Amino acid sequence: MSECDGAKGKLYELLRGELCAEESAPIRDHLACCPDCQSEQDVCRQLMGVVKRACVEERDSNCPPTQLRDDILASLRGLASEQPSA
Ligand SMILES: [Zn+2]
Repeated sequence: MSECDGAKGKLYELLRGELCAEESAPIRDHLACCPDCQSEQDVCRQLMGVVKRACVEERDSNCPPTQLRDDILASLRGLASEQPSA
């Protein structure tokens, strides 16, 4: 697994503050010098913000609608990088 894969795999945990300093330090170091992972981090941040707003607006449900989350994630990823869906 590449450093990028490792960092991206932990981005959500990092942004949610679920990693201890020991776990987050190498990821933060990698992000500081990797534009690709920085843009992925931006996507994660945007997604988390949108999902959080959706949850606040839909007080009836306790968890974000999975389909909505997937749709947002797909569109954000599409904007960040034009990847062919394999
Ligand atoms: Zn990277």
